[in-house]
Amino acid sequence: MRQKEFLLADGQAIAYTLKFSARRRTVSFMVDHRGLTVHAPRRVAQYEVESLLRAQSSWIVKKLAQWANRPAAIIWQDGARLRYLGQEIHLAVRQDVCSRAVEFDGLRLHVALPNPEDHAVVQRKVVQWYARQCRPDFTRRLEILAAKLGVPVPPLYLSGARTQWGSCNVRGEIRLSWRLIQAPPHIIHYVAAHELAHLKEMNHSPAFWEWVQKLCPDYKLAKRDLKAMSAELQLI
Ligand SMILES: [Zn+2]
Repeated sequence: MRQKEFLLADGQAIAYTLKFSARRRTVSFMVDHRGLTVHAPRRVAQYEVESLLRAQSSWIVKKLAQWANRPAAIIWQDGARLRYLGQEIHLAVRQDVCSRAVEFDGLRLHVALPNPEDHAVVQRKVVQWYARQCRPDFTRRLEILAAKLGVPVPPLYLSGARTQWGSCNVRGEIRLSWRLIQAPPHIIHYVAAHELAHLKEMNHSPAFWEWVQKLCPDYKLAKRDLKAMSAELQLI
């Protein structure tokens, strides 16, 4: 494995990792969070690798930019940065042989575990905590919005959906993704208002959006903000 660099026509240097393999017959490129990796057969010459890289450079540059703009994955350890109701909070993990408590002090989410090195368990505890915070928050919003709309408070179900933040079925049941609890309140409010408005109009007609506007006058802004932060909400 070697760290290399090649220059593009515009003078930009692209770093890459070159990996040789005796079994390999062709050169291949891979771009991920570690950057560009080139897998090559042992016999291939450096200049051949570079000419292939130059030929593929627009694809490589595009892929590297996509990775650079992606929010960083959460590493489930002490100090990890999380979001709760739009605020940045930090994870504080400590070893505790008896306790498995999760406590929030307004800035830090304290997680006690016998084995804090087990990132999967840390993640599970945090996800459970998020899911517990949702019900009172979402229920309160639905109560307020249902009163405004003049309808009974619909039954609320939590989902773990990553892209469909909310839904409303023909039985009038509303589903909201617990992942929304990471978002600022105006976004949660918009999604709740959107689903509730479906109790009046089971479609996305202008009449439907009028109901949404009545419940949530700034819905256009919230809708845009939700779109902008959806990649971040999906990290967990
Ligand atoms: Zn809808």
